[in-house]
Amino acid sequence: MISFKKFIFALLRKQNYTQFYMEAWKEYQENNKERFLKEMMDLLRIPSVSAKSEHKQDMAACADAVKKSFLDSGADRAEVMQTDGFPVVFAEKFIDENKPTVLVYGHYDVQPAEPLELWHSKPFEPVIKDGKVFARGSADDKGQFFMHVKALETMVKTNTLYTNIKFLIEGEEEVGSPNLGKFVEENKELLKADVILISDSSMLSLETPSLDVGVRGLSYIEVEVTGPARDLHSGTYGGAVANPITVLAKMIASCHDENNHITIPGFYDDVLEVPEKERALMNKAPFDEDEYKRETGSKELWGEKGYTTIERTGIRPTLEINGIWGGYEGEGAKTVLPSKATAKISARLVPNQTSAKMTKKLLDYFTSIAPSSVTVKAFEHHGGEPYLTPIDSKGYKAAKKAIETTFGKTPVPVRGGGSIPICTILEKELGVKIIFMGFGLDSDNLHSPNEKYGIENFNKGIETIPYFHKYFVEGNE
Ligand SMILES: [Zn+2]
Repeated sequence: MISFKKFIFALLRKQNYTQFYMEAWKEYQENNKERFLKEMMDLLRIPSVSAKSEHKQDMAACADAVKKSFLDSGADRAEVMQTDGFPVVFAEKFIDENKPTVLVYGHYDVQPAEPLELWHSKPFEPVIKDGKVFARGSADDKGQFFMHVKALETMVKTNTLYTNIKFLIEGEEEVGSPNLGKFVEENKELLKADVILISDSSMLSLETPSLDVGVRGLSYIEVEVTGPARDLHSGTYGGAVANPITVLAKMIASCHDENNHITIPGFYDDVLEVPEKERALMNKAPFDEDEYKRETGSKELWGEKGYTTIERTGIRPTLEINGIWGGYEGEGAKTVLPSKATAKISARLVPNQTSAKMTKKLLDYFTSIAPSSVTVKAFEHHGGEPYLTPIDSKGYKAAKKAIETTFGKTPVPVRGGGSIPICTILEKELGVKIIFMGFGLDSDNLHSPNEKYGIENFNKGIETIPYFHKYFVEGNE
């Protein structure tokens, strides 16, 4: 048994150690923060848009740049590894087989920048304004995964790394990670870890830090309605031939009732209802309706009756039309009765719903309600499963303590509205929990024009991440 004296001594030493860590990290980061920011901005200059084939070269260039950033930051090994789609960047810093291993997941691909005319500056020429970096990918996810690269550098250069770290940075997150599942399955040993850490989400604010405890799933489909064999003269044929745009609009309008409840049969069947107590807790998170309206530019808030905005975007499934087109879209007027109309439609899913089942429900719905005057084709784009992480795991506790250390506040656990399709696959294949430690803000315009990432958020992330590693080791001792 340890003597009281020894115990006190160990305690003091631990305190001194923490002090030592804090000072070493702070000093290193303070001395290098300009360079960290510059390197992150260099990465933003590469238009790595995974959805568009014209960016194939940029994707390869970006993967190489990410690989180089790992090697420059102290990784023992960094590799661009091929998949059936865009490559994955794997990197590693190994210190001791008896120490726990943290696997950091992120993505170097970005959403398309369009509509370009709504950007105040060029999407791939990052500019700093009001303490924020404006560029596509700044928050989602280059700016965020890069914090982990610089946290690695901080720990390596100050000789304070006490976990093994692995990095899996993929290039297909924004298109649903179609090839990553196979990659993970084939590389289980390579990716083996004790916890998975992801910074690809947001916190409530720097004043009210939060940790996401879940992400929603996704079902994404496309519906194409074909009427006449070619575009027709709307004067000659209008009124006699069904217009595919009218038909599609009616089909879409039928998806929600007057309470904004989704009417697709069985849509809510598998939804795990959240207990009253948890809902009450969730609704205690600060929420300013006027600020929300102002920030989104919405006249009023909208949503499923019986639920608050926080619930609508966290614990409830939703259905959105992501795009719709058909007929004449050019300048001026053209009197045409179009041959085709198309829409892209997606549903966000919550725990217990499964993507395959929900996608089938969506596809069945649109084909079953199609009137006989048109032909309806519906197909799947991609999907992902919802994911929930427990708040009593070693990983969650380490993240919580890390935030408490650098923010001076206990993070609020919240359910994120977005989706990271690979989560369930990562957990299933690697058998470990995922921790979401995002430093972005919901107002960062992810997937929208003028995406931005606060420099303070970026620095705060780099400051916080090393503590995660430190506390995760301590939690495992
Ligand atoms: Zn992302």
